[in-house]
Amino acid sequence: MKDLFAPLNNPTRYHELVALIKTYDLAYYQEDAPLVSDGEYDALRAELIHIEQQHPDWITPLSPSQQVGATPSEKFQKIDHLNPMLSLDNAFDEGDVWAFFERTYRLLGKSLSQHIPEVVAEPKIDGLSASLRYVKGRLNLGTTRGDGTTGEDVTANIKTLKDIPQSLPAPYPELIEIRGEVYLSHDDFFTLNEKRQQVGEDLFANPRNAAAGSLRQLDPQITASRGLKFFAYGCGDPWALAITTHSQLLEQLQTWGFTVNPHYIIARNLPPLMNYYHRMADQRATLGYDIDGVVYKINNLETQRRLGFISRSPRFAIAHKFPAEQAQTCLLDIQVQVGRTGVLTPVAYLAPITVGGVVVTRATLHNADEIVRKDIRIGDQVIIERAGDVIPRIVEVLKESRPNHVPVFVFPTSCPVCQSPVTVRADEVARKCSGGLTCPAQAMQKLKHFVSRDAFDIEGLGKKNIDYFYEKKLITSPLEIFTLAERDSQSLTPLRAQMGWGALSAKNLFDAINTRRTIPFSRFLYALGIPQVGQTTAKNIATFYQTFDAWQSAMIAALAQDTSLQELLSIEGVGASIAQDILDFMKVPGHQDLLRALSQELTILSETRQETFSTPLTGKTVVFTGTLQTLSRDQAKAIASRVGAKVAGSVSAKTDFVVVGEDAGSKATKAQRLGVSLLTEDEWRQMIPEVLK
Ligand code: NAD
Repeated sequence: MKDLFAPLNNPTRYHELVALIKTYDLAYYQEDAPLVSDGEYDALRAELIHIEQQHPDWITPLSPSQQVGATPSEKFQKIDHLNPMLSLDNAFDEGDVWAFFERTYRLLGKSLSQHIPEVVAEPKIDGLSASLRYVKGRLNLGTTRGDGTTGEDVTANIKTLKDIPQSLPAPYPELIEIRGEVYLSHDDFFTLNEKRQQVGEDLFANPRNAAAGSLRQLDPQITASRGLKFFAYGCGDPWALAITTHSQLLEQLQTWGFTVNPHYIIARNLPPLMNYYHRMADQRATLGYDIDGVVYKINNLETQRRLGFISRSPRFAIAHKFPAEQAQTCLLDIQVQVGRTGVLTPVAYLAPITVGGVVVTRATLHNADEIVRKDIRIGDQVIIERAGDVIPRIVEVLKESRPNHVPVFVFPTSCPVCQSPVTVRADEVARKCSGGLTCPAQAMQKLKHFVSRDAFDIEGLGKKNIDYFYEKKLITSPLEIFTLAERDSQSLTPLRAQMGWGALSAKNLFDAINTRRTIPFSRFLYALGIPQVGQTTAKNIATFYQTFDAWQSAMIAALAQDTSLQELLSIEGVGASIAQDILDFMKVPGHQDLLRALSQELTILSETRQETFSTPLTGKTVVFTGTLQTLSRDQAKAIASRVGAKVAGSVSAKTDFVVVGEDAGSKATKAQRLGVSLLTEDEWRQMIPEVLK
């Protein structure tokens, strides 16, 4: 048995988790033969997500938390979806659902009163999603979700499903991808397993795996014999249709001959949604097929479009999952942690308890309101739950077993690290330390974010060294990173003379810092660590203003003037709350000076300049294989995208170039066989503009 939270600061454990989850994903999504139970898998994901919450700079786009499913199997032809097929974010209790609507409203720039936006609630079918492409009304392609961008071609198999129409009655669009869930009824699942038992074949663990195994067959006759069924629940681009709501889409799907699950409702209030959730949970055993929760989707399509997507899921929908394992234990203590943006997060310390094979000693308490709402007090007996990919949470306090006179928990009014006053904004629930960079907890985490992989990515300036330089007061703000070498050259105790450093390691560090003095504007913006300005938002903002100078002037103007603020709010993904965070950042004393000073130390590349490189690689499809000597794979991919080349994961006749690094494997051989041009790393570098090298 392992303690879920012990290895929080251990990158080895983190990388082990990434590797394990990837292995399990491949077995689950590609082989339809899970190596571990869903509970065990979900526990590993919970551990990974928890570590990532503590170390956001460890997250890369390759982390399982950022990805959908797994790469398509080599057994099938690969098909790019016209629109991505994403997963869904999860909610596990009413609080999460409420938080989802609050977040949604914040993003829309409204405040949530009694009414939530109109929502369609549908059962969450536990099968596998499929995309059906109709060209001029005829079924042309059937694909699995794959990694969300590219799926597996299972057209011949899809065509054997009786409730999938081969053609659509007019009127229909020229081209449409219908999305839905392929599933197996309980009856068909038991019959299938009985037959397999009789002939000595391995049994399927559950209807979901049986459905996936049956659809992903090379012989369509086998698929046809399994009795797979299909519920349609959407399409790739509903915004292109002449409809305004998701419920109209469900009606349209039925007119075209698809089966839509009959148990959906439209609601405008939380209580009917919660009733619906409990009703579906009660009916679960009698439906005849598996559901693992319900899905809430904002009904209005224009609102959906405005909310948009994050890398793994849409912002306009959420899956409310049925509960997983629960256990009772004692709440020993509540401690308040300070995050990078100053947010104070209370953490529950629990008497160790095993839930689903994992010892749990801590649980998240989200925020101060959650403690008040559930009236959680130190010493209470609590019910904790682990479900899906979240860390354990307290679902209930057993108030009847509380001794008399147990005091109410008082949330600190000053920061537990720097003692600055704690503030709370009217449109937010989070309480924040107001110390900014003067709070060591915030300053250190902000610096760590600043140098992290997706930000400045400075080699040799990892977390340990940030701790070291911060404690020695050599780097206490981002600017000091870039003045370090100069100060060091005048120091009586230069770095090369310090314990653990030598002339070479000090020089390497200064060189690494120097190579990062040129940075794309979007990366720079992301590095600033403004709350809610993640990579996507930073990219949108940078593309809009194009240059750092234009952005900075516009933000200063927006502090006083409405038109500049309106302009900021017009950017995709920027609502009132994000705009407020940006303006708050600009208002912090010293931040504007810091930006000016940083811009003098750095060359901040404009976004347009990044996008207009035209090279022999522009418009071509490139595959990387083997280890590159001068760049990481991520850097190589980023450069490829900046010269307008598409990076593919596997070699096909459509590949234009394969860049071959050291220890290249089968991709290079396959490229040779297909007559695709091979490039050495050097040849590839020669095709890239100097400024990107
Ligand atoms: P998910 O199943 O939690 O949610 C997203 C999916 O819900 C969509 O892709 C869609 O297929 C489906 N869906 C069903 N009804 C829908 C509706 N009405 N509207 C919209 N979508 C609907 O996410 P996921 O990424 O597909 O899978 C994660 C789950 O798979 C986890 O719960 C995990 O336990 C399990 N898993 C297990 C293992 C293992 O080794 N045991 C490995 C990987 C994943």
